[in-house]
Amino acid sequence: MKLDFYMPARLITGENCISRNAGLFALGKKCVIVTGRRSAKASGALGDVTAALDAAGVEYTLFDKIGENPLLSVCAEGGRIAAQSGAEFIVGIGGGSPLDAAKAVAAFAANDGIEPLEIFKVSALKPSLPLIGIPTTAGTGSEVNPYSILTLDGEGKKRTFNSPYSYFKYAFVDPKYTRSLGREYSVSTALDAFCHCIESYLSPKSTDASRMFAVYGAKHIWNVLTAGEQAQGEDVDSGGYTYAQREALSYAATAGGIAINTTGTGFPHPLGYNLTLDRGVPHGKACAAFTGAYITYNRRNPEGTRLLDEFAAAIGADVSEIAEVIPKLANVSMKLDATTIDRYVEKVKSASNYANSPYKITEREMAEIYAELFGE
Ligand code: NAP
Ligand code: ZN
Repeated sequence: MKLDFYMPARLITGENCISRNAGLFALGKKCVIVTGRRSAKASGALGDVTAALDAAGVEYTLFDKIGENPLLSVCAEGGRIAAQSGAEFIVGIGGGSPLDAAKAVAAFAANDGIEPLEIFKVSALKPSLPLIGIPTTAGTGSEVNPYSILTLDGEGKKRTFNSPYSYFKYAFVDPKYTRSLGREYSVSTALDAFCHCIESYLSPKSTDASRMFAVYGAKHIWNVLTAGEQAQGEDVDSGGYTYAQREALSYAATAGGIAINTTGTGFPHPLGYNLTLDRGVPHGKACAAFTGAYITYNRRNPEGTRLLDEFAAAIGADVSEIAEVIPKLANVSMKLDATTIDRYVEKVKSASNYANSPYKITEREMAEIYAELFGE
C-alpha cells in the first residue's frame, strides 16, 4: 500500500465560488487574463472574474488569443504582453487549452526574452508568475495539475511543459460555467476525464490516493454517460444535461486531474494527439478511440488484468462493457493508409506514456493499433 499525495493547488468548488471568494483575487495590482476567443465570456466566467478583480482593485489586460491545442508562439506572445504590462499574476479561464496556455504565459512572463523552445528547459527558468485557474469544460483537470500541453509551431506535434511552478494557486471549479458547452464537446471532455481515470488507475506510479480519485471520477462519468435517455425538462442546458449532471462531470474531471497529477497518462493520449492535430478530432474523443485497444493490450498482462477488473468493479461496470462503450461514444471514424500510420508512429513514438501501464506497447504495436482501428 502507498498513500503518497501532492497537489498544492487550493481547490475551491461550488456554485458562485468566485463571488464568494472574491478577496482571493488580490494577488497583486495588475494581472493578465488568458482565455480563448468566446467561451470565457459565453460561460459567464469572465464576468465573474472581472467583477472580483474590480472589487479587489486589480487592473487587468485580456489576452484572448488562445486557440484549441495552444500554440507555443501564442503563449510566448502572451508572456511578453504580461511582462510589458507589469502583470503580477495570471488568470486562466477556459477549457484545457487556455488553462494550459496560462501556465506557459506565466512562465514566459517571468522569463521575458527567452526563445519559445527554452521554456522546456525547466530547471533553468525563474519561477512563474502566480496563477489562478477557472475551468469552463469538465475534462482535462488542468486546474489541479502542472501539465501544459503545447503545440509546436509548424511541427504538428505536442510537447508537455511541466514545471513545479505551474500549479494554480487557486482553482475555482463552478459547474455552472460548463452549461454553455454543447453536446459534442461535453461528451468529448467527459471521455477525456474518463481516460485520465482509467489510464491513471493502471499506471505503475499510482497510489491508493490517486486510485481513490480515479474511481470517484470514473464512476460519476460512467453513470452520466450511460444514463440512457437524454434528460428532459427546464433544468436541461444546451448540452442536454441537468445541473446535477454537470456538477458530477465537473468534479469527476477535477478528480481525474488529481489522479493524473500523481501518475501522468497512458498510451491513448499520444496516439490520440495525431488524430487531433492532423484530423481535428477533439482531444477527449481522440483518446477514447483507443480505450478498447488500451484494455485489450493491458489484459495480456496479469497485473493489467487484475487492475482492470478491480477498476471496473469499483465503478460498477464490466471491463468488456467499458472497452465497447467508451470508443463507441467517441465515434471516431477515418481511413489511414500505411504511410500515414508510419508518420503518426514516428511523431509520437518517443512519448514517455508507453512505460506508464502494465503492458508496454512497442512501435510495431502502435502501428498495429492504428491499423486495427483505422486501417484501409
Ligand atoms: P478546449 O480546447 O479548451 O476547448 C474546446 C472548445 O470548447 C473551444 O472551442 C472552446 O471555446 C469551447 N469551450 C470551452 N468551454 C466552453 C463553454 N463553457 N461553453 C462553450 N464553449 C466552450 O477543450 P478541452 O478539451 O477542455 O482542452 C483540450 C486541451 O487540453 C488540449 O490541448 C489537450 O492537449 C489539453 N489537455 C491538458 C491536460 C492537462 O492535464 N493539463 C489533460 C488533457 C488534455 P474558446 O476557444 O472560445 O475557449
Ligand atoms: Zn486528456
